[in-house]
Amino acid sequence: MSHLLTGVPASPGIAIAKAYRLEMEESIPQRKEIEDKAAEMRRLKEAIESAKVDIDRIREQTLERLGPKKAEIFEAHLFLLDDPELTDAALARIEREGVCAEFALYDVAAAIMDALRSMDNEMLRERAADVEDITRRVINKLEGRAHHTFSELSDEAILFAKDLTPSDTAQLNMDYIRGFVTEMGSRTSHSAIMARSLELAAVVGAGTDASHIRTGDTVILDATSGKIIVNPSRNQMEDYSERKRKYEDDVLRMKSYVDRPSVTADEVHVELAGNIGGIDDLEKVLANGADGIGLFRTEFLYMGRSTFPSEEEQYSVYKHVLQKMNGKRVVIRTLDIGGDKELSYMQLPQEMNPFLGLRAIRLCLDREDLFRTQLRALLRASAHGKLAIMFPMISILSELREAKRILNEERIRLEQEGVMIASELEVGIMIETPAAALAADLLAEEVDFFSIGTNDLIQYTMAADRMNESVSYLYQPHHPVILRMVQLVIQAADHRGKWVGMCGEMAGDASAIPLLLGLGLHEFSMSASSVLPARELLSRLSKQEWSRLAVEALSMSSQQEVLDFVNNQLRSEA
Ligand code: PEP
Ligand code: MG
Repeated sequence: MSHLLTGVPASPGIAIAKAYRLEMEESIPQRKEIEDKAAEMRRLKEAIESAKVDIDRIREQTLERLGPKKAEIFEAHLFLLDDPELTDAALARIEREGVCAEFALYDVAAAIMDALRSMDNEMLRERAADVEDITRRVINKLEGRAHHTFSELSDEAILFAKDLTPSDTAQLNMDYIRGFVTEMGSRTSHSAIMARSLELAAVVGAGTDASHIRTGDTVILDATSGKIIVNPSRNQMEDYSERKRKYEDDVLRMKSYVDRPSVTADEVHVELAGNIGGIDDLEKVLANGADGIGLFRTEFLYMGRSTFPSEEEQYSVYKHVLQKMNGKRVVIRTLDIGGDKELSYMQLPQEMNPFLGLRAIRLCLDREDLFRTQLRALLRASAHGKLAIMFPMISILSELREAKRILNEERIRLEQEGVMIASELEVGIMIETPAAALAADLLAEEVDFFSIGTNDLIQYTMAADRMNESVSYLYQPHHPVILRMVQLVIQAADHRGKWVGMCGEMAGDASAIPLLLGLGLHEFSMSASSVLPARELLSRLSKQEWSRLAVEALSMSSQQEVLDFVNNQLRSEA
C-alpha cells in the first residue's frame, strides 16, 4: 500500500528512486557474560576480517570514482582495524572477563575515543570519528546488521535522515543521491540552502513519520510541493514519471533566458545574482547566466576539514571565483560561523541560544586573528576582479566601524608590503537584524551597499528559530511587517545613493519578486537554479505597475492577503 507524507519543499525537483536511510543513532552494546570464550574470540576475529573485506571494496570503488585523496580515509580504516591497541585489547577483554564481543570491542574503543578527543592535536581528535566508524562497522557485523555509509551507494537513491548538517550535505555522493528528506529543518536551514545550490530535490521538516521509511522502499519525492509517496501504485508511478519529464522540460525551456539581460517589461534593469558556498557552485551560477555573485558564504570553506584554511588557501579560492566571474561583481561575505554552522575544530563555549550568541561578525570581532587572515586574503584577491566585501549580522554601528577599522589596518599593512589592492573595492553589510533595519539610515552613511538577509531578518523579527519546524509558520516573507522593513531599508539607502540587494531565500521566491521589484530592490541574489525562472518572470513585470501594487500590499493585514493579491495579479497579467 502506498502512503503519503508531507514536509517543507526545500529545493525543487522530482525524484523517483529507492530510499536509503542514514542511521544516526545506534545503541550502545550492553555487557553480557558468555560461556565459550574461544568461540566468542573467533566471532570477533571473523567480524573484523569481514569488515576489512567491505572496507577494501569501498576503498577500491572510491579510488576509481573519486580519486586517491578520498580513498585515503578507507586506508586509514584498514590500518586501524589492524591496530593491536584496539583489536588485541578487545580479544584480551573477552579472554579475561568472559564478556560478549560487542561489549568488549565497544568498551575498548570508547576508551580510545575518549583519549583521542581530549588531545590537543586536531588531527588526533579527528581520528576518534574514524575509530567510532570502524567500531560500528564491526559491531554491525557481529549483530548481523548492514552498515551504511554514503560511499557504499552504488545505485540511485533518495536519502532519509533525521537531520543533515551542512557538512553532511557537502559530502553527499552526487553520483547516486537524487534527493533527500529530513525529519527536522526548515526552508532556510543550511542543509536546504545547500540542496538548492546542488540543484538536488529536497524536502525537510517531514517529522517523525518519515522515520518509518526503510532502506529499499520505493519513493517518489515531489520536492516542488513537499510530497513524499512511499511504495507508490503503478498509476502514481506513471503520473509522476510524466510530471518529472515535464518538470525537466520546463527547466530546459528556461535555458533560453541564459544570455538575455535581466530587464522588466518596462525596460528597467536589475541584477540577478547567484548565491554560492564554494568553487563547486560556480559552474551552476555561470551555466544559469547570473549577472554576478550576490553572496559567497565563505564559512563553507572552513567546514568539512580539521584546521582553519590558511590565508594562501583562501586567497586562491577568492581569486579563482573573481577571475571566473570575469569582471562581474562578486560579493564575498566574511565568516558567518555560529548558529547552526559549527566548526568541529573550533572550541566554542556551549550557548543556550546559538542564534542569539557569538556568531558571524560578533565572533570575528572576538577572534580578530581569524578575521584578519580572511580580510588579508580578500584584499589580495581584490586585484583580480570586481570584489565587494560584506559583513554579516551587523546590529549596531560600532560593529561596522570596528570591522572597517580592522579592514583598513590590513589594507594599509598590505600596501606597505607592496601588494596590489583594487582601488574600487565596495564594502557593505547584510541587513539581518531588526536593529540594523531600523538604523539603516545611519548605517547607509558608512557603507557602499546593503544586502538584506531575510532568512535571519525574518527569524529575528518574528522571534522564531529558523531551525524549528514547530514555529516555521512564522517564516512569513510576504507578511506586511517584513515588506515594511524591506521598504525602510531600501528608502534609507536610496536617499544616500547606495544600492540594495537581497540574498535571503525571499529574493528567489517567484511570489515575492514582483513586490521586491516594486519596492525598488536593485539586486536579487538566489540559488543558481532560480535565476532563469526569475529572469523570465521579470521580463513579464512592469516596475511602474508593481511600485503601485507593492504600496497597496504594505497596508494589508496578513501574509495570506498579500499572497492572494500577488497571485491574482500575476494570473490576470498572464
Ligand atoms: C540570510 O540570513 O538571509 C542569509 C542570506 O544568510 P544565511 O542564510 O547564511 O544566514
Ligand atoms: Mg544570515
